[in-house]
Amino acid sequence: MRIHVIQTGTVAVKSVQPQGREAGNPLLNIVFDKNWTEPLPIFAFVIEHPEGLIVVDTGETARVAEPSYFPQWHPYYRYGVQEWVQPEEEIGPQMRAIGLDPKDVRWVLLTHLHTDHAGGLAHFPNARHLVSRSEYTSAKGTRGLLRGYPSNRWPRWFNPTLIDMQPEPIPPFPASYRVTRAGDVHFVPTPGHTPGHLSVVVTTSDMTYFLAGDTSYTQALMLSKKVDGVSPDRVIALQTLERIHAFCHATPTVYLPAHDPDTPDRLATLQLAVVQPTPAALMVSAV
Ligand SMILES: [Zn+2]
Repeated sequence: MRIHVIQTGTVAVKSVQPQGREAGNPLLNIVFDKNWTEPLPIFAFVIEHPEGLIVVDTGETARVAEPSYFPQWHPYYRYGVQEWVQPEEEIGPQMRAIGLDPKDVRWVLLTHLHTDHAGGLAHFPNARHLVSRSEYTSAKGTRGLLRGYPSNRWPRWFNPTLIDMQPEPIPPFPASYRVTRAGDVHFVPTPGHTPGHLSVVVTTSDMTYFLAGDTSYTQALMLSKKVDGVSPDRVIALQTLERIHAFCHATPTVYLPAHDPDTPDRLATLQLAVVQPTPAALMVSAV
């Protein structure tokens, strides 16, 4: 199994978005914040798996440069986000550049349906798309558009398989959804950033990878349990960060959020989210 990280351009958001405020309305906090982040990478992942190619999130499309691509009446698009994507930075051309054909993708796993995760859907007409039932329900149609999901830009054929979590815990996550027959790729529920947000856990013989979507914008924000500025329910978002934190303590894990500039390095060097105690240290602590 091999995991590739693919950067599909950059996004800048208001400073209050990666690390939110405890008070106020999330959208108003964003609209009235005068400060922007640096352009942040937009990452997607491709997994070469024995059962077929798996894509985790599809990144963004170069069409964001079209003046009317996003609804200009929506305050978030008008005041809260800027994106830069060249056509050759889309996930399709980048996959072909490393010898992988997007038409061969078997599964597209979507952590959530925000524009910078679903913008590359058009490259995968042959795949089976998996998204949480609650995420799809809140993202579709005009109501989804009002919530900030550009559902009017999804390909006409987009008809994802809506998944419900199964009562098979991956502690401390109370449930999971198995994707591969081998049982080495699972969704786990990570509500917070959006109520239906999922993360993808990939297990190999010697490492566990946590493809985190937007559960946090950086690893540091997860480790310090800082809730972002768009989560509608801060209590639920904090519980998710605590679960990921506990998971990374219990299992040697490489944590890979979608906008953390350190994600490619961390994947290449197998840098763990939490330094695990060495056997010697365990023996000392046991004495
Ligand atoms: Zn998002």
